[in-house]
Amino acid sequence: MPSLYLINPAESVPGYFGLEVLGAWAGVQAVGMADLVMPTVAAFAPADWDVRLCEERLGPVDFDTPAEFVGLTGKITQRERICELATEFRRRGRKVIVGGSYASLSPEEVRPYADVLVIGEIEEIAAALFSDLSSGRYKPEYRGTKPDIGAGPLPRWDLYPSGHAMTAQVQTSRGCPFECEFCDVIQYLGRKQRWKEPERVIAELDLLHRHGYRSVFFADDNLTVMRRRTRALLEALASWNDRPEGERMAFSTQVSIDVARDADILDLLRESGFAMTFIGLETPNEESLSHAGKRQNVKADMIGRIKTIAEHGILAFGGIVVGFDQDGPDIFERQAAFIQAMPMPLVSPGLLVAPDATPLHARLAAAGRLIEGRQSAASVVGTNIRPLLMSEETMRNGMIWLLNRVFSADLVAERVAAFVDICGDHKPSERKPFFSGITAAMARRLATKGRGEYGLIRVLDKAAHTRPDLWSLLTTVFLYYCQARFMLEREGIWDDAIGRRDAPVL
Ligand code: SF4
Repeated sequence: MPSLYLINPAESVPGYFGLEVLGAWAGVQAVGMADLVMPTVAAFAPADWDVRLCEERLGPVDFDTPAEFVGLTGKITQRERICELATEFRRRGRKVIVGGSYASLSPEEVRPYADVLVIGEIEEIAAALFSDLSSGRYKPEYRGTKPDIGAGPLPRWDLYPSGHAMTAQVQTSRGCPFECEFCDVIQYLGRKQRWKEPERVIAELDLLHRHGYRSVFFADDNLTVMRRRTRALLEALASWNDRPEGERMAFSTQVSIDVARDADILDLLRESGFAMTFIGLETPNEESLSHAGKRQNVKADMIGRIKTIAEHGILAFGGIVVGFDQDGPDIFERQAAFIQAMPMPLVSPGLLVAPDATPLHARLAAAGRLIEGRQSAASVVGTNIRPLLMSEETMRNGMIWLLNRVFSADLVAERVAAFVDICGDHKPSERKPFFSGITAAMARRLATKGRGEYGLIRVLDKAAHTRPDLWSLLTTVFLYYCQARFMLEREGIWDDAIGRRDAPVL
């Protein structure tokens, strides 16, 4: 029987969304987000194949696997581990197949490590790939197409260790019509968005519900950008998810800031179960937004729109980027003030990076401004770009300052209070103690730190008491805050003095 061992390798740098740093500290074997790629690929394997999945964030790789083929997937942050695992399995005589977003966007980097390289989306080439593997007459490279994404089989969640993941994933669309200069998603998935029909999305959710998931991330690049299809999908979701507490799913996703223009979409999002969404705000520097092609954010009153989104009961998680060519040394204080003006407790600040295959990468390579070998930022303050209007040292120090500012317990507490103040309508809900289990363990650890942390804990506790309907959202805020905080501590760049409310500016 042909056999395949599919691996989702560990990341070299933990991300804001992973919760692995937290889990490791608390001694809990858990991942924030279940991987969707492995169950999707496994579903295409013919019935006579033996397929096993390995989520390396949850346990060690089985190097003695008897499987004939080893499949590796992953994104840029998994680069080092993809190459290490491929090398080791080939040394042990296994045939290694590498696919996923990193292999698709940087095929030249991956090719030396793969017996079979899969570039692009798998749906329409899966049958030929598995048939060739079965016969032993496979090619060194397969190129995917832009397939109908709803035509394939349902993901094999039965093979995934679901009991250890907080949130599962579905994907209802691929691609985004915008054209941000730094974005590699559109290079990989295209600007013409392709969708699944609502019935197919519901079938995937039914499956996840049966596997015990009550939290799902919609891994779309921009869920709401096509309004007509969004309304149809959200209406179907609202009706499917109209169920009692405990049975209802909590949804999160990614959208662009223009969503705030349509109150009916925001209402539908909330009604169908979306409580949190990532939004790429990037920067208050209009010049940077214009030059980067982030046209949907230019003159968009982002602060007002984030308030509108919060008024509809949805928590925005803001993507923040520093290091555009129009950013001078004043950008760090401008960013700190911009973030603090919004009812947005959570943000994910990072330095601008130029991924392979993007127009930004091509432009900076031509200008000789790329730092070799640094495409995957090995640190939250790392980048492969030489800045234009400041030195590398100023940029790194400024970023450390900004991170300490935006994750200061004092300032996060202010943003939590601002969010709770204007967040949607109060819905009757049972009161639960805010700190229990892992949140209590985290709170105890933080409470040894100082005044600011006590303040944040008090604000969260009080908010959960007055707005018990926000309990789950506030828990998420607290866990993500702890993850960010421990990431900075682990990198050795946490500085209590910068985070104090009365600390001097940069
Ligand atoms: S809006 Fe987001 S997904 Fe769309 S092009 Fe810009 S960065 Fe990429």
